[in-house]
Amino acid sequence: MDLKIFERLESEVRGYIRSFPVVFRRATGSLLFDEEGRRYIDLFSGAGTLNYGHNNPVLKQRVMDYLQSDGVIHGLDMATSAKKEFMEAFEAVILKPRGMKYVLQFTGPTGTNAVEAALKLARKVKGRPNVVSFTHGFHGVSAGSLSATANRKFRDAAGVSLGNTTFIPYDGYFGPDVDTMAYFERMLEDPSSGLDRPAAVIVETVQGEGGVNVATLRWLQELQRLCRRFDMLMIVDDIQVGCGRTGTFFSFEAAGIQPDIVTLSKSLSGFGLPMAMVLIRPDIDAWKPGEHSGTFRGNNLAFVTAAQALRSYWSDDSFTRSIQDKETLVRDWLENMVQNHPEAELSVRGRGLIQGLVSARQGLSNRIAAHAFANGVVIETSGAHDEVLKLLPALTIEEDVLREALDILDRSVAQA
Ligand code: PLP
Repeated sequence: MDLKIFERLESEVRGYIRSFPVVFRRATGSLLFDEEGRRYIDLFSGAGTLNYGHNNPVLKQRVMDYLQSDGVIHGLDMATSAKKEFMEAFEAVILKPRGMKYVLQFTGPTGTNAVEAALKLARKVKGRPNVVSFTHGFHGVSAGSLSATANRKFRDAAGVSLGNTTFIPYDGYFGPDVDTMAYFERMLEDPSSGLDRPAAVIVETVQGEGGVNVATLRWLQELQRLCRRFDMLMIVDDIQVGCGRTGTFFSFEAAGIQPDIVTLSKSLSGFGLPMAMVLIRPDIDAWKPGEHSGTFRGNNLAFVTAAQALRSYWSDDSFTRSIQDKETLVRDWLENMVQNHPEAELSVRGRGLIQGLVSARQGLSNRIAAHAFANGVVIETSGAHDEVLKLLPALTIEEDVLREALDILDRSVAQA
């Protein structure tokens, strides 16, 4: 496969091209094809950007119709018909049925833009600089979001010091028997603990980049209680595990909590188009007009595909049920894999259709991923030491394709 132009012209920082060294030409549903026509099953989904699959036919049709109608493509944050269509769908399909009251802020196009806005707003509202984030948390790589991202590799790339964040152990950090929330509460209660009163806490309900670490629902409820008790805003970063990944549209729904601020991006447009948004409790919508801005806050193609995705998949419970069925299939298969390969020292964790196959043996997950790619499955590793194979199939993946991918994974474990 000819990758010479990438090696000659693209910065050394390029990443996924090294794990998947082919040129992809075509994609449909859960399948990718390279320039030589080789077929791959995609268990990566653009890092959670393609929850409805590649070139989803319903969303693609909406794009084609919109282009055909000479719809406005770019509009800063002007009112457009496309944006209206999205807001109406979001209100009718997501907010109203859940009894949620949020205002929507459209930020620059990518996840980190939403996190920047959320942290900046929280600090302004509370007038305090400190924010709490969690061990292994990932929130983006621009300066503000990076300050809340734990991984040293990313932080060291900044070249400047990143402050105003205190890291607290995530649920399960010390194993199942240590209650990290009790520790956090004690820190907040004790004036001599050294913890500056945070303006906000930013949390993922399942840490996608940090190794598929799953917070229990009880831990999340406790976190909400502490936020209320100590006057901190609760920001749930649902960029990777929102938009249905865990089985419900928002990942925190199962915990019955209502964060003050929610960030969404990745699969929000549904079609892999850049789009990011912050949901804000109306009484903390504190910025004056124009005080926070950005040129690309209005990708109208993304608005129409996002609206279509909401109407097509979230108008009733059937999509949620299909995700739950596939979760059971994946879990059972992975549990079997654990039994079948005791030498690999594997375990499983996850929620919905983000599932991690964890290996206690150093380097094994990367070897499995490399074999899987050679066998026709695209899958990435996550975690501080790449110790977790992260299964992130499209939520719309057909069951037979899913079974085929899991079978290939099983074979790849044996080969690794
Ligand atoms: N927050 C979470 C939870 C993420 O998983 C990511 C990206 O993986 C981000 C924020 C940053 O999003 P982006 O890469 O689009 O800036």
